[in-house]
Amino acid sequence: MNFYVYNTMSRKKEEFVPVNEGKVGIYTCGPTVYNYAHIGNLRTYIFEDILKKAFEYGHYKVKHVMNITDVGHLQSDADTGEDKMQIGAERENKTVWEIAKFYENAFFEDCHKLNIRKPDIVCKATDHIQDMIDIIKTLEKKGYTYTSKGNVYYEIDKFKDYNKLANLSMEELEAGARIDVDENKKNPLDFVLWFTNSKFKDQIMQWNSPWGKGFPGWHIECSAMSIKYLGDRIDIHCGGVDHIPVHHTNEIAESEAVLGHKWVNYWMHGEFLVLSDGKMSKSKGDFLTLSKIEKEGFSPMDYRYFCLQSRYRKQLMFSFDALRQAQLAYKKLKEKVADIVSNVKENERADKELVNKYKNKFQEKISDDLNIPNAFTVLFEVIKDNELTNKEKSLLIESFDTVFSLDLLKSNNHNLEKLDSEDIKRLICERNDARNHKDWHKADVIRDELKSMGIDIIDSKEGTKLKIRNS
Ligand code: AMP
Ligand code: ZN
Repeated sequence: MNFYVYNTMSRKKEEFVPVNEGKVGIYTCGPTVYNYAHIGNLRTYIFEDILKKAFEYGHYKVKHVMNITDVGHLQSDADTGEDKMQIGAERENKTVWEIAKFYENAFFEDCHKLNIRKPDIVCKATDHIQDMIDIIKTLEKKGYTYTSKGNVYYEIDKFKDYNKLANLSMEELEAGARIDVDENKKNPLDFVLWFTNSKFKDQIMQWNSPWGKGFPGWHIECSAMSIKYLGDRIDIHCGGVDHIPVHHTNEIAESEAVLGHKWVNYWMHGEFLVLSDGKMSKSKGDFLTLSKIEKEGFSPMDYRYFCLQSRYRKQLMFSFDALRQAQLAYKKLKEKVADIVSNVKENERADKELVNKYKNKFQEKISDDLNIPNAFTVLFEVIKDNELTNKEKSLLIESFDTVFSLDLLKSNNHNLEKLDSEDIKRLICERNDARNHKDWHKADVIRDELKSMGIDIIDSKEGTKLKIRNS
C-alpha cells in the first residue's frame, strides 16, 4: 500500500518513495537536555513515534536516529541569548555534564511512560565533536565559511536557495535574526559553526579544533550525526514547526553544501501544542511537564490519547478540561476492549479475510499522512461490528495498538501496584458518603474510577465488596 506524507519542502502531500526499497531512514531532532521536556515537546515525540510505527505497520524496516543536544544550543535558535546547558547548571548548582545526564534520563523516563519507543540510535552531540569538526573543515574547504573574531561562521549568501524550506522571503527570515545583531556576521542570517570566542567565559564544555579551543554551534550536530548514521540521502527528517525557519534551514545549508546534492527527501513537521494564553515555552519557567499532569490525576496514556485525537499538522489547544474529556473517552474505550477480551470464547472463529479487510482499512488511514483520527474511526467500527467475533475484534485491536500504543489490551490491574490501599479505602469512604447523601452521580463516578483500575464494586446488605478483575 502506498504511503503519503505531507512534505514541508513542497507544501504538498506526496507519495512516499524510499531511498532503499522497503526501508525508511528517519532522523528526528532530539531534546536539549537542560530541563524537563514540556508536554508540547512530548506531543512532537508522540507524533514521531506514531510515524515510525505507521511505517512498520506497512512492513517497512525503519531506522530511527535521534540526537541529544547537550552542547551549543543558545536560548535563541539563531546564536543569541544564553547557553541553555549553562542556564541549567547555574539554576541547579550542578555541572553541565550532570545536568545533561539527569535530563536525558528524565526525558527517556517520560518517553517510556508515554510508550514512545526509544530510537534505534540515540547520539549525543558531545560524543560527536570530531564528526562536526570534519564537516566544518569540508565546508571551509568548499568556501562556505569565514572566521570573524575567533568564531567560524557559515556564509549563507554562498548557498543557493537558502530560504527554500521556510518558503519565506529573505527579508522575512532576516526579521527574526535582527533582534540581537552579531557585529561579526556579514549577513544577519549567517550562523556560527564553531565558537572559540565565547561570551561565556567559564564555558566548561570545550574541545580543541583547527580554529582554537571552543565548542560547536547547534545546527552542525544534526548535519554531522544524521549523515553519519543514515547516509547522505535521508528519507525523512522531522521536528516541530519552530525548526523550519532556522534550525532545519541551517541544517540544509550545511549538509547540502557538504554533500553537493539534495539531502532529505521528505521534511515532516509537527504543529505546536498551545495554551489558551499562548505558546508553551520553557523560558516561561512554570511549564507543564508529564509529572505535573500526572499529579493532577491524569495518566501518561490519557495524554497520549489526547494527542492522538488531532492530526499532527494541526495546532492542538491544551486545557485540563480537554484532557479530562480525553481521559473519559480513553477510559470508556478501555472498558469496551476489556469487555470484548473477557468475552472471547474458546475456539471462537478468527476469519483471516475479515480481519485483513479491517487491517487494510486501518493501514489506508494511517498511510494517508498519518490520519490517526480516521484510524480511530476504524477501531470503533470494529468494536461495533456485530459480524465480528470477539476473537476477531481482539486480534484487530491488538494489531491497531501496535501503532496507537495505548495499552488497549493491557489489564488495568497494574494500576493497583501504584495505588496503596489507603487510596482505595479513601475512594470507598467517599463513595459510601455519597450514597448516604443520595448523591448517586458522585457514587457512580467513583465506581467507574475504581472500575477503570480493574476493581469492581459489589454493593450488598453486608456493605461494599471489592472484586479485582483479571481481564
Ligand atoms: P527542544 O528540546 O526545545 O529542542 O524541543 C524538542 C522538540 O519539541 C522539537 O522538535 C521542537 O520543535 C518541539 N517543540 C517545542 N515546543 C513545542 C510545542 N509547544 N508543541 C509541540 N512541539 C514543540
Ligand atoms: Zn536538529
